[in-house]
Amino acid sequence: MTQVFADLSAMQDGMLTICGEDYNHIKNVLRMHPGEKLSVRGTDESSSEYVFEIVSFSENSVNCRMLSVKESETELAARVILFQGLPKADKMDFIVQKTVEMGVTEIVPVEMRRSIVKLTGDKRRKRVSRWQSIAEAAAKQSKRAMIPQVYDILTYGEALRYAASAADLVLVPYEAMAGEAGNGTRSLLESLRPGQTAAVFVGPEGGFEESEIEEALAAGAKTISLGRRILRTETAGLAFLAFLIYRFELD
Ligand code: SAM
Repeated sequence: MTQVFADLSAMQDGMLTICGEDYNHIKNVLRMHPGEKLSVRGTDESSSEYVFEIVSFSENSVNCRMLSVKESETELAARVILFQGLPKADKMDFIVQKTVEMGVTEIVPVEMRRSIVKLTGDKRRKRVSRWQSIAEAAAKQSKRAMIPQVYDILTYGEALRYAASAADLVLVPYEAMAGEAGNGTRSLLESLRPGQTAAVFVGPEGGFEESEIEEALAAGAKTISLGRRILRTETAGLAFLAFLIYRFELD
């Protein structure tokens, strides 16, 4: 069933009017007709899936009637905030797309000490806006119940403060722990409960400075391993999310 995201707060008495890009997609791309059904997700963080029936088309909007609503089955049981060390070139496009497919809840680009890329002014705004569009497209393609938010770029200190305030568990995959025996990663991941929030910090291509690890530990974070091999920065977040998919979604 076709899925669109809409501002459901505009729904009144079970009726919803969809305008803009989604209207154009429904009318001119999918060429849908009155009587057909579509799945609508809220643009807020609610994870419910609403099924609507198309009632009629106006000049630049489509009027729909709600038929049913059900809890989403496509969100990870735990929320994940990825604090991604700013990588080179267009790797962030890849990271945003793939981590959204795998269930990330929020993405925060972070200027870390070994980040080569420095983004300022208009270029920074355009880049963050581009990443948000990529997140929206990936959320639609993977039938997510919500559109993960891509935040503006934070400094490392800002990121640690945000993580401490927003997450139940702050984890730092640290390359120096690759394959370390007794790294404690499995028990930390198993301590994460459904409904809780995990923050995960991934270093850029050059990895973490010792001082960044010390700062993170002082802020209450825990370092973890992602296995015996050194993963690329664009792979690390995916590996972490795969662990959570295994933890929460595989029987
Ligand atoms: N320059 C580092 C080196 O050569 O050791 C590698 C950094 S790696 C490309 C980028 C980030 O991925 C690291 O900072 C870390 O967050 C994560 N990472 C990669 N492999 C990991 C592993 N086996 N265990 C924990 N974290 C890992």
